[in-house]
Amino acid sequence: MKLFRRLAAPLFVLALATSAHAAAIKALIVDGQNNHDWKGTTPGLKKYLEDTGLFTVDVATTPGNKDDMPTFKPDFKKYRLVVSNYNGQDWPKETQAAFEEFVRAGGGFISVHAANNSFPSWAAYNQMIGLGGWNGRSEKSGPYVYWEEKAAKVVKDLAPGRGGSHGPQHAFAVETREPQHPIMAGLPAKWMHAQDELYDRLRGPAENLTVLATSFAPKDKGGTDRHEPMLMTIGFGQGRVFHTAMGHAGGGKRVAQQCVGFIVTFQRGAEWAATGKVTQKIPADFPTADQIRLRE
Ligand code: ZN
Repeated sequence: MKLFRRLAAPLFVLALATSAHAAAIKALIVDGQNNHDWKGTTPGLKKYLEDTGLFTVDVATTPGNKDDMPTFKPDFKKYRLVVSNYNGQDWPKETQAAFEEFVRAGGGFISVHAANNSFPSWAAYNQMIGLGGWNGRSEKSGPYVYWEEKAAKVVKDLAPGRGGSHGPQHAFAVETREPQHPIMAGLPAKWMHAQDELYDRLRGPAENLTVLATSFAPKDKGGTDRHEPMLMTIGFGQGRVFHTAMGHAGGGKRVAQQCVGFIVTFQRGAEWAATGKVTQKIPADFPTADQIRLRE
């Protein structure tokens, strides 16, 4: 009897956990190559998804070298959301085709920071992310997309130029441009993001692209003096893509991904990409127009 009592509470908790898992959304994080600290950030991204209580998360890690890459064949169809923390060598054609089919058929996808540097010549991938940078991107990759403040609209600049740039890292403000979008609804119109690289001059097909939020990249911080897209959604077939340009990590630091603004928009973007809705509440520790907020 004593033993039963001792076991009963844990068993009850286990039963609850099991039933919660049965209702959870299955998500997959892809990593394995990145010029950023993917080993340090994947556990954080996984925890942020799990903290919502909505997701169970698996991780698929690619081989570290080209010779073994043909073995990389995750079963994307098992999931409702794929998160890329990957910036590296091409996946096998078969895996690319399976991933395209997954998103086209209604799967959710999130591109985090340097995931938008990946795969410059994979046409469908660039349609999914809308905009990307580096790895030879130029006007041939598509227009440079920025936000024109006075007209309050997105500009697609077809003039020749590089795709992807940033100045030294600094903290910067993020401004909402689509306050009615489920991911943005209820967030402050303007909030401070912790020290990060402010990606500018991103280029890509920019089809079915909605710019949810932008950040001003001042010239004196190595920027463009323009409002650059930070949070975006893209439609690809029946699939929903959430793209966050934020989240630099390296040198043992991942402060940009500890920013509550990064975390909360990632969590809301994940739910939206997977389901088309956002049921999460805005937490009390969300950053304000003049205050950065970090979590451990
Ligand atoms: Zn970076």
